[in-house]
Amino acid sequence: MTDLINPATEEVVGTVPLSTVEETDAAIARARSAYRSWREVSPGDRARLLRRFGDVVDAHLEELAQLEVRNSGHTIGNARGEAGNVRDVLHYFAGAPERLFGRQIPVADGLDVTFREPLGVVGVIVPWNFPMPIAAWGFAPALAAGNTVVLKPAELTPLTALRLGELALEAGLPEGVFTVLPGQGSVVGERFVTHPDVAKVVFTGSTAVGKRIMAGAAAQVKPVTLELGGKSANIVFADADVEAAAATAPYGVFENAGQDCCARSRILVQSGVYDRFMELLEPAVLGVRVEDPALDTAEMGPLISRAQLDTVASYVPADAPVAFRGNAPDGPGFWFPPTVLAPVSPGDRAAVEEIFGPVVVVLPFTDEADAVRIANDSAYGLSGSIWTRDLGRALRVSRGVEAGNLSVNSHSSVRYWTPFGGFKQSGLGRELGPDALDAFTEVKNVFLSTKGQ
Ligand code: NAD
Repeated sequence: MTDLINPATEEVVGTVPLSTVEETDAAIARARSAYRSWREVSPGDRARLLRRFGDVVDAHLEELAQLEVRNSGHTIGNARGEAGNVRDVLHYFAGAPERLFGRQIPVADGLDVTFREPLGVVGVIVPWNFPMPIAAWGFAPALAAGNTVVLKPAELTPLTALRLGELALEAGLPEGVFTVLPGQGSVVGERFVTHPDVAKVVFTGSTAVGKRIMAGAAAQVKPVTLELGGKSANIVFADADVEAAAATAPYGVFENAGQDCCARSRILVQSGVYDRFMELLEPAVLGVRVEDPALDTAEMGPLISRAQLDTVASYVPADAPVAFRGNAPDGPGFWFPPTVLAPVSPGDRAAVEEIFGPVVVVLPFTDEADAVRIANDSAYGLSGSIWTRDLGRALRVSRGVEAGNLSVNSHSSVRYWTPFGGFKQSGLGRELGPDALDAFTEVKNVFLSTKGQ
């Protein structure tokens, strides 16, 4: 058993059992057995069950959101959005079973067709930063394609995933089709990698663990989808709407207290507008409402844990070049104020490593080529923003930045109907969007001879 802590109050909000290897193996066996019938469920019925699952999530939206506030310290506004995202992702992928098309390819003397076959049991491993959406991005398309799913939430944040597992049954999904297994990464997560009956692993988390999973999966040539870390750039050109860029920059990085793989944690500002941008950024950062995440007005809550607080604080030692900082409550809870570091040099630890907290560095650049060079000077390549009024530049820089998800004159968050994933060490494969089912199916080619006997 492990205690779960409310990050805003440090009070215990519940306890959950930690699954053993034996329990994990038993759940995988049930999922394997359920797979035989789940893949045979007609497309229309599978679609209906997923739609119903989405409807049941919708009916419990407030309950799920409140649970996330208590377990993860997310602001209530964000938590409602996250529960709504699970509903939407389920509804979106409920459209997939009836559209899982193969192809008919012209051949001589016969008919050649392709089928998209499910893989079997899919293991989904989820981090603590967005427990609900990241779970759904894995389980919804996997189920839609005819796979069964075993899902391991993060040790710190299992409550909403466990509730989603119950809601799936309430919606009518058969036993064993979707199983949530709370437990340790080194036990349950590792077992997903090593168990021969888990056909695929979807992992979201740190790059270090992702590399280990990829190496482990190689032993069985097991496919993986990896969504890993990031150190994304928010590039502000001198020709941009600098007021809008500065006003929104805090929300591009401090969302979820910076515990967001897409956090734009490096702000690159063209030299000519650097001073003006910093003048405008200060009140914007001070204006971020960091408070009890249960309040409707909260824009930022606490960090997830004491350990995360210590890690984040290590990037802001006493002699750190703090340009300015926002506010954070005193008293219990793992609070850290939004913090802007400048001037820093591009090689500084805070400018290179993923901090996963509300700390951002600001770096100047000279011209377009310099901006692209600095943005790409990272092992990561997940996300980023480009602020300019020049359409040609927006496109050139979008094509030049090595990252999977870019937004121009905005800090676009993930949309479930567009692809999401990273370049370089930010990951492998894509989730969401129209092609998500490619990652949960194998293509089978069948040739039928029409030659007379
Ligand atoms: P983590 O890698 O420590 O853990 C993620 C999950 O993996 C947890 O469920 C954990 O129990 C499990 N795990 C740990 N060791 C394992 C092992 N040996 N085998 C199998 N599973 C194991 O990451 P975290 O600290 O929970 O999450 C933060 C990280 O996740 C950040 O680096 C962040 O950038 C990344 N992240 C990436 C995305 C994305 O989509 N690219 C989204 C969210 C978070």
